[in-house]
Amino acid sequence: MNPDQVLINIAEKIASCNKCDLHHSREKGVPGEGPSNAEIIFIGEGPGFHENMQGRPFVGAAGDFLVELLDGIGLKREDVFITNVVKCRPPGNRDPAPEELKTCSPYLDQQLQVINPKVIVTLGRFSMARFFPHAKISEIHGQPVQVKGMLVVPFYHPAAALHRPSLRSVVEEDFASLPELIKNAEKTPAVQSKDPPEEENQAEQLRLF
Ligand code: SF4
Repeated sequence: MNPDQVLINIAEKIASCNKCDLHHSREKGVPGEGPSNAEIIFIGEGPGFHENMQGRPFVGAAGDFLVELLDGIGLKREDVFITNVVKCRPPGNRDPAPEELKTCSPYLDQQLQVINPKVIVTLGRFSMARFFPHAKISEIHGQPVQVKGMLVVPFYHPAAALHRPSLRSVVEEDFASLPELIKNAEKTPAVQSKDPPEEENQAEQLRLF
């Protein structure tokens, strides 16, 4: 089966998924979008109000800022794959619960397997925690690591800069550094394995931020 069809099949499963409680508050599942051969994948946290209504990732104010940040490094949103760690909107934009993160994780695993990107950019602490479960985003943002042949780069979520204007320049600087980080990927230190954190550890880990 070709990769585009596999991504369509994953999206169809998400649209009718009822594996966790988030399906109760879902208008539309938000599987993510972008080319199946994208070299870069951006992973956010979960759909917000506008994403839930439209079924598309990053279409609200944070999405506008993400497009601006991509434009600053010569990328269009159509060039990259954009998705989230949970595919349905947590009610009231609350944080996704550890059980919801764990239950939804296979969809992202399958997307990563199909797309096989060279670079994974995590946006915010929940997607960061998939690869760096014991880290604080304030300490590791903008510092890439090679994980299983992919460059994983943790960034703040663009929405964080909208809520905390003091973070805006930090987010802009991190994004501006991305082309150079990719260029120097082969010099980046590698880790053996960074599997998603176990459910029982995740709540404690996420309370660190
Ligand atoms: S968040 Fe993920 S696991 Fe939960 S209902 Fe939506 S698609 Fe299914």
